[in-house]
Amino acid sequence: MGFSSFNCKHCNRSLLSHWVTTPTNDWMQFVIVFLKDTSEVEPQFLRHGNAITGVYDGYSRIHPFWNENDGSDFGDCDDDAIYLPYEAHERPACWHLSCWNAAGRPTEPTTPSDLALDQGYFFDEENYNITEPQSSKGKE
Ligand SMILES: [Zn+2]
Repeated sequence: MGFSSFNCKHCNRSLLSHWVTTPTNDWMQFVIVFLKDTSEVEPQFLRHGNAITGVYDGYSRIHPFWNENDGSDFGDCDDDAIYLPYEAHERPACWHLSCWNAAGRPTEPTTPSDLALDQGYFFDEENYNITEPQSSKGKE
């Protein structure tokens, strides 16, 4: 699968691929995703009910945070990644983690995220020159 992404329920901008973030918008790679089915979720993901947090890689996949924190090569950890369903009826509600925190951590997002036209990769940097809504990266 090529690049793809989903729009944040809060700011309506895409979950950014961690490969192309800038120092200003690198917070937009850290996400929380509300899944309809959590049966495939690996135990290393941090969870809030049906939601998981992690790092978005730009290929519809989320990786658990520890991959980033321990400095290991991201590519070595593909087995841990979760593919986000693309079909409209099972597509998750996606948020930038900082947007979710800023919105008061809502637990019942109702509608799935739209697919991101910029695919989380081919974004206009001027349109993504956005400072983080709050200082926390949410890696709690
Ligand atoms: Zn957002």
